[in-house]
Amino acid sequence: MLIKNQIYEAVITDYTAEGQGVAHIEGCAVFIPNAIRGEKCLVRIEKAAKTWAAGKITELLEKSPHRVNRECPVAKLCGGCDFWHMDYEEEAALKAERVRQCLNRIGGESLEQIPILGAPTCHGYRNKAQYPVASRKNKVYAGFFRAGTHQVVENERCLILPEETDLVKDTVVDYVNQFRVSAYDEVAHAGLLRHIYVRRGAVSGQVLVCLVINGRRIPKPEALTERLKKIPGFTTLVLSVNTKKGNAILGDEFITLHGPGYIEDTLCGLTFRLSPRSFYQVNHHQAQRLYEAAISQAEITKEDTVLDLYCGVGTITLAMASAAGKVIGVEVIPQAVEDAKDNAKRNGIENAEFFCGDAGQAALELEAKGIKADVVVVDPPRKGLNADTIEALSRFAPRRIVYVSCDPATLARDVALLKERGYVLKNAMAADLFPRCAHVESVVTMIKNA
Ligand code: SAH
Repeated sequence: MLIKNQIYEAVITDYTAEGQGVAHIEGCAVFIPNAIRGEKCLVRIEKAAKTWAAGKITELLEKSPHRVNRECPVAKLCGGCDFWHMDYEEEAALKAERVRQCLNRIGGESLEQIPILGAPTCHGYRNKAQYPVASRKNKVYAGFFRAGTHQVVENERCLILPEETDLVKDTVVDYVNQFRVSAYDEVAHAGLLRHIYVRRGAVSGQVLVCLVINGRRIPKPEALTERLKKIPGFTTLVLSVNTKKGNAILGDEFITLHGPGYIEDTLCGLTFRLSPRSFYQVNHHQAQRLYEAAISQAEITKEDTVLDLYCGVGTITLAMASAAGKVIGVEVIPQAVEDAKDNAKRNGIENAEFFCGDAGQAALELEAKGIKADVVVVDPPRKGLNADTIEALSRFAPRRIVYVSCDPATLARDVALLKERGYVLKNAMAADLFPRCAHVESVVTMIKNA
C-alpha cells in the first residue's frame, strides 16, 4: 500500500474513463488528474487504498509533447471539462483507445484499431447548458460545479458554449440580483432559483430559456422577458417546477411564460421541435455525422421495417424513414414522444409510428403483436440495454442491430450478451461529440450470424 502524503515518481501509462492519467507504482494503480500518457512526474498521494490510490502532480519531470497551455482560465477548478491541458490529437486518440479497450476487454473482441470521428472544433459547440446557481454576500452567480462537488465555480465565458448562451446566463443573473430572487440552497432546501437551463438550435439560432425553480412563480417575469428579447434568437421562456430534494435538475411540471415552450432546429435535413424535457444531442455537427454513420451502417432497404429504441424526439427514426418501408420509434419520456409525432408531421413523413414506454417492454409487446423488425437501432442512456431489451432483440432476430452508445463499457457488455445470442460485431467506430470532456460516443453494427 502506498503512503498518504508521500511523494513518488510515476510514469503515466493510460487513462481512466473520466480522463485521469493512470500510473502503476509498486503494483498499485494510481489515478492522477491533469496527466498525459507518457509523462514522468512526481506525485503526492492523497488517498491510498489497497489496490489503488489517487494523487496529484507536484512536479512534471518529463512533459508530453501533447501538453498545451489551458485556454480556459477556470479549467482546473471547473468540473465541466477534462482535457484543456492536452492537444486535441491526444484527446481524440485516447477516446478511440477507450472504446477499443472496452470492446476488447469487456466485449471479448480483438480489435487492433478503431476509427474516431474527430471534432472539427472544440469551441462553441454545445447547444445546451444547465448552470447551477449559488450566492455569495447576497449576490447570486452562476457557473458549473467543481469536479466531484456541488460548489459552483463562476465561469464568465465558457469556451465550449456559444456566446448567446452565456449572454442568457448573465441576463438572468442580472435580473435575479435586481429583483432579489434567492439562489436555491440544497442543504437547507430553501431558496428559489436552482438552475438556468439554456438550449440553442445550432442551425435555427432559436434560444430556449428555462429557469428551474423551487416554487411556481418568479417576480416580474415581464421584466426578464423584455431583457431576454434583446438576445439574438430568444424564442421562449419556460419555468420548470422542481420542489424536490435531490440531484435531478428538471422537475416534471413546465410553465411557459413566453413563446411556444419549445424551439426548433434542423438536423439531417429535417426540422425538429424540441421541448425542454426532450433529449437532443448537444453537438449538432458531430451528432449529424454520427447519425449518418449509423444510418449508413444500417444498410436499410425500402422493404425493411426499422425499429428505433430510445428514439428521443425521433431524430434517427425520421432520418431513416425515407430509406425504409416503415420506421417505429420507442421512447419513455411522454413530451419527447409528442415531439417525435409532431416532427413526423412537420416533415411530411407518413411511414413513422411512435410509442411511449420502456424500450424493452414496448419492444416485447410489439413482437408479441406479430410486428417484424428487419433492422433495430438502439441508442440507450449510459446504463445500456436492460434484460427485456436484449430479450426483445433476440426474439425479433433482426438482420442488423445498430447500437449507438454514450458509454463504451455498457456497450461492450451488451455486445458480449448479443454475441451469446447469435450476433457478430461487424463495424465499430468512436465519435467525439464532447470535445474537451471525457465522454465518448460510439456506434457499432452487429449482424446475425448465418
Ligand atoms: N436517439 C435519440 C435519443 C437518444 S438519448 C437521439 O439521438 O436524439 C436516449 C433516450 O432514451 C432519451 O430520449 C431517453 O429519454 C430515453 N430513455 C431512457 N430510458 C428509456 C427506457 N427505459 N425506454 C425507452 N427510452 C428510454
